[in-house]
Amino acid sequence: MNKSVFICPVCGGEMERNERVYRCGKGHCFDISAKGYVNLLPANAKHSADPGDNKMMVNARADFLNKGYYSHLAEAVEGAVLKYYGGGLLLDSGCGEGYYTERVCRAVLRGKNFPVCTFAGVDISKNACAKAARRLSKADIPCETAAASVFDLPVEDGAVSLLMTMFAPLCREEFERVIRPGGALIMAIPGAGHLMSFKEKIYDEAYENVVGDYELSGFDMLEVTRVSREIHLDNSEDIRSLFAMTPYYYKTGREGHARVEALENLTTMAEFEIIVYKRTER
Ligand SMILES: [Zn+2]
Repeated sequence: MNKSVFICPVCGGEMERNERVYRCGKGHCFDISAKGYVNLLPANAKHSADPGDNKMMVNARADFLNKGYYSHLAEAVEGAVLKYYGGGLLLDSGCGEGYYTERVCRAVLRGKNFPVCTFAGVDISKNACAKAARRLSKADIPCETAAASVFDLPVEDGAVSLLMTMFAPLCREEFERVIRPGGALIMAIPGAGHLMSFKEKIYDEAYENVVGDYELSGFDMLEVTRVSREIHLDNSEDIRSLFAMTPYYYKTGREGHARVEALENLTTMAEFEIIVYKRTER
């Protein structure tokens, strides 16, 4: 049995794991799925049986990201992590299908040798966890993956040295709880003009994203990096994948969907902001 970075969602105790099961000192047990992740979502929670991104969304995002459309963002996040990570637990909060998790872990493993260096990913979507666990295991990256809420992360207070969150919900209080004082928070959000010309094709009136309020109590902001690149999609399949991974997919009416279906190519800006914070030391 190895000590896990995750704590028991029932009693909060430390857990050990082998290839098949996680177990705490009080005997609470959580099976590791055949896909390689552990489900730590409380069974009695009120949310749906299949919360988070469904299979279609997860697959669309994996297909799109694997083609490298957002590789400029991945490179910039790798750079930020290498700059601020000094060993310890690196947690990807809302890891999705693990594209950025894999990129960042690889970069860390390629770089310096840290005495203690552990990786974990958490996502509420079991579909996403399955895809992430498979991807990370294929890449031979030692990363524990759990289905859990980013609002209730299954790790001890102050356990995390660096927390990354890529377009996932920002949970200030929970991040303040889990990141050790002096630890880093690296967050990626869509930039103001992200996908603007795509939105203009979908909606009669398109609006820029609102960005710029970087204040986060409990954290000191260290830097903001803007990365942008024009991307060209030359087939309707990639355009549909992009659409399915955006929040617009479910907010758009039938007419908007028809407009996307009709697109055969698309040139648009892929624009992001990476914000780095340090957890305030007390
Ligand atoms: Zn327990």
